Amino acid sequence: MRYNIVLFSIFLSLTVYGQNIYFGDLHVHSDLSFDGHVNIDTLYNNAINIAKLDFICVTDHDLNSANNSWIISKQKANFYNIPGIFVALIGYEYTHLPSQGGHLITYTYKDNGNNVCVP
Ligand SMILES: [Zn+2]
Repeated sequence: MRYNIVLFSIFLSLTVYGQNIYFGDLHVHSDLSFDGHVNIDTLYNNAINIAKLDFICVTDHDLNSANNSWIISKQKANFYNIPGIFVALIGYEYTHLPSQGGHLITYTYKDNGNNVCVP
């Protein structure tokens, strides 16, 4: 499945009744996943500079992905996270019983991803 973050872009951050509203995408794949088509750096740059998102989580698959995708994904999230401007969460898409098609999106707020199961 191909994800295009531009389709989900919203160009304004809003404050409603004193509460900030943030826009982002919590489920997007890079080409580190077998079904992703966008380089992870291009994905982050598009999210920040074109879509003007407030946050994103690249959730590449734990199976059938590049061998070092988890390491790269954590490094890129830490690199593109800009405190006070842009939040790059760490996460991945866990596959439970592939024959039954079970997927679970997993997120962490820590910068090393150690509070989630490493695929
Ligand atoms: Zn997915």
